[in-house]
Amino acid sequence: MRLLDRIVGLCYTEIMQTVYDVIVVGGGIAGYSAALTLHSLKRNTLWLGADLLGEKLRAAEYVRNYPALLGNGALFASRIEEQMAREGISLTKARVDGIYAGEPFTLTAGEQVFSARAVILATGVETAGAVRGEENFLGRGVSYCAVCDGALYRGKTIAAVLSDGKFAEEAEYLAGFAKEVHAFCLYPDASFHAPNIVVHKEKPLAVEGGMRVEKLLLKGGELPVDGVFFLKNAAPPAALVGGLEAEGGAVKVGRDMSTNLRGLFAAGDVTGRPYQYAKAAGEGLVAAYSAHAFLQENRA
Ligand SMILES: Cc1cc2nc3c(=O)[nH]c(=O)nc-3n(C[C@H](O)[C@H](O)[C@H](O)COP(=O)(O)OP(=O)(O)OC[C@H]3O[C@@H](n4cnc5c(N)ncnc54)[C@H](O)[C@@H]3O)c2cc1C
Repeated sequence: MRLLDRIVGLCYTEIMQTVYDVIVVGGGIAGYSAALTLHSLKRNTLWLGADLLGEKLRAAEYVRNYPALLGNGALFASRIEEQMAREGISLTKARVDGIYAGEPFTLTAGEQVFSARAVILATGVETAGAVRGEENFLGRGVSYCAVCDGALYRGKTIAAVLSDGKFAEEAEYLAGFAKEVHAFCLYPDASFHAPNIVVHKEKPLAVEGGMRVEKLLLKGGELPVDGVFFLKNAAPPAALVGGLEAEGGAVKVGRDMSTNLRGLFAAGDVTGRPYQYAKAAGEGLVAAYSAHAFLQENRA
């Protein structure tokens, strides 16, 4: 929808509001890292997110690859919340539904309108919802990251739903831990080297269980599994930002996390694989420094 159409009906005082230095969109680790860095750089920043530290940050059963963190996603989130309180950083809850490039940028979230001279996009990737029940078992047997969670399924029977042949390597990786991997290949000509991978040519109907995943519902019956990995592409963020250049579903960025749109930076899962906390935090920091430099070079 065009910006003009969105702002018709909003009163003048609502629109003539603060122009922030930077608006960070996304309440996960990438967005937090960006907001924290901008705070230390004393930039007038607004941090917007649909939820604080998202389900993905809280859901990890055990985080084994984030420096100095010994525990699960809930511990990770509580540490961040403690740091936020100390630093005086807070998230403004809003689901942004439009980002319009310009000087300044205009962002819309329902009836709300926000302005900033630079924007950092840190909205993650859309991973849930394609198979019934998938979302409900996030962190309770459903995973999107073979490298993160594969080792949790040593000697177990698991399923992997592959949207593309490029994820075959990740299924092979899982087969290195699991007793058996049922690979549901949603693409033609699936082939694997590992002898413990069983190929299925259908899409599961549902993920089912109690406290954790217990089985997949298939057309011909049920398949008991201890976990399910959904290995799939990022949803394109182009729907949020018109004209944003993407590659393979991920926002195309330079080393400074700049996008093809002047003043718009991106960080975290939204820029592509690997989907990892440490990468997201690092990119958030780089995006913040780059936005700061952009504002210094383009003083109003
Ligand atoms: C179960 C599980 C376990 C994992 N375990 C590990 C692990 O052990 N180690 C590891 O390194 N990685 C792990 N990961 C991967 C890790 O969670 C991600 O790489 C990381 O969370 C990415 O951070 P992000 O900030 O880029 O995106 P996200 O964490 O996805 O955060 C994006 C946020 O933006 C919000 N958002 C989206 N769209 C909008 C919008 N339009 N407006 C406002 N807000 C919006 C979302 O609600 C979300 O809160 C795991 C992932 C899962 C699901």
